[in-house]
Amino acid sequence: MTAPDLTQSLETPADRLAAIRRRLEMAARRGGRAPDAVALIAVSKTHPPEAVTALIDAGQRHFGENRVQEALVKFTPLKTAHPSLVLHLIGPLQTNKTREAVGLFDVIHSLDRPSLADALAKERARIGHLPRLLLQVNTGEEAQKSGVAPQDVAAFLSDVCAPRGLQVDGLMCIPPAEEAAGPHFALLAKLAARHGLPYLSMGMSADFELAAALGATHVRVGSALFGARPAAKDRANPSSSE
Ligand SMILES: *Cc1c(COP(=O)(O)O)cnc(C)c1O
Repeated sequence: MTAPDLTQSLETPADRLAAIRRRLEMAARRGGRAPDAVALIAVSKTHPPEAVTALIDAGQRHFGENRVQEALVKFTPLKTAHPSLVLHLIGPLQTNKTREAVGLFDVIHSLDRPSLADALAKERARIGHLPRLLLQVNTGEEAQKSGVAPQDVAAFLSDVCAPRGLQVDGLMCIPPAEEAAGPHFALLAKLAARHGLPYLSMGMSADFELAAALGATHVRVGSALFGARPAAKDRANPSSSE
């Protein structure tokens, strides 16, 4: 009698999704949180619409993309066909793409500079609403990474967002690849608590369970759900722009 081939069954997107969901729920419980406290964002960048559809069919609703153009092509038809999808922009936003981004995304995780705050305020004046906004925090203070430095979060909220009437609902971070993520997640949680911000976007394939235990409300999981992305240097560096 041969043993069942578990790797084979884990090949289907629905099984991979179920496995990640189980791990996420267990991690939330370990952190003393409700099992459904953490939204799973399936990061579908570089993957084709069919890969997204397979997860939609398995019940997945939150998706993340890091490039406006790629997301427009892929998700405009998908959002029409599935109005309950929630689309998250997790990559840097160029000001000249603000209008398209505001029209497509439900949540923008990458507010990071005054010029983008200006562009968003202008869009809101034009159309009367905006996606939910999260402030990206450069917790590792890396020169090549976008985000507001931790010590500048208070001033960004009070001097950049408030005067423009921009409501920020949370914080997002991408810890330095070569460091333990825990201290960065803890710092982000502390900053969010200090400013009364309910949303915490942190944790990726390698560390989403830790993030869930430390208070994440949104984890961004790509390769663990979709498999490896084509190796391209700029794909691996979320600070690159379009
Ligand atoms: C690509 C990306 C992710 C997902 O990364 P994985 O390691 O594949 O899970 C999460 N967050 C951001 C900002 C990304 O660009």
